[in-house]
Amino acid sequence: MLDVSPFLVSPGTEASLSSRSPRDTTGFEGTKESSRDILSPIQKRLDFLQHRLWAEGKRGLLVVLQGLDTSGKDGTIRHVFRGVNPQGVKVWSFVKPSSLELSHDYLWRVHQRTPARGAIVIFNRSHYEDVLVVRVNNLVPEEQWSRRYEHINAFEKMLSDEGTVIVKFFLHISKDEQRERLQERVNDDLKNWKFSESDLETRRQWDLYEQAYETALSRTSTDSAPWYVVPADRKWFRNLVISQILVETLESMNLSDPPTNPYLEGLVIE
Ligand code: AMP
Ligand code: MG
Repeated sequence: MLDVSPFLVSPGTEASLSSRSPRDTTGFEGTKESSRDILSPIQKRLDFLQHRLWAEGKRGLLVVLQGLDTSGKDGTIRHVFRGVNPQGVKVWSFVKPSSLELSHDYLWRVHQRTPARGAIVIFNRSHYEDVLVVRVNNLVPEEQWSRRYEHINAFEKMLSDEGTVIVKFFLHISKDEQRERLQERVNDDLKNWKFSESDLETRRQWDLYEQAYETALSRTSTDSAPWYVVPADRKWFRNLVISQILVETLESMNLSDPPTNPYLEGLVIE
């Protein structure tokens, strides 16, 4: 089994992105091809556990996906959850806030979308944008965004206390890999639609984003809502690590068996 502990940002420690390699495949001896053999049973297990979560109906799972453009947020959703019953999973993508959303506090739009009991919800971007893009582009004064780490920890603690299990992934790609993926979006007509001119601006701000991520990951990885830095240059390894962590997270919930109905004891259908 793949040991995913090196990818955890231990609560209270620095995330130290520069010491983590986006091409890392620590703990896995195999190749892209052989990774499929271990991914497939993990994904079957994920489907089984999702079903148990739904049957229990008491707790939810919130999966936060963050990463720079082209880091693979969409691909992760497509590949990691492909074997899971679509009825039990919802995806919310957070884009630039609307004027209605901006007329509320930054957690307003987020809280409404957290999972109901029994459900898995994936956030494709999240409230973390409010300490990332907002910080890098000075969309609100520092005095305002700098308080948000504390709010976020308190918000996530409340969700966790009330039955939402939270796991957060930062998809860590290298600047070189991003160049290749952006170039691909330019060159491949079928991928053009994914290219946005703003991606180039974000790329120019690479160092500022790295700093903003460093702070966010270091200050908001907690026991109840841990961050994992997932090496994401190799898509197959990214999928493997995330699937494994999701299975371990659900296993650690000790989901109870669905209730039996004593009335059914010995009942024979005619
Ligand atoms: P994409 O994920 O490519 O569809 O792009 C979504 C865009 O929305 C990204 O450029 C994000 O930075 C931006 N975005 C998401 N949340 C916020 C936010 N709270 N404030 C400003 N921009 C945001
Ligand atoms: Mg984009």
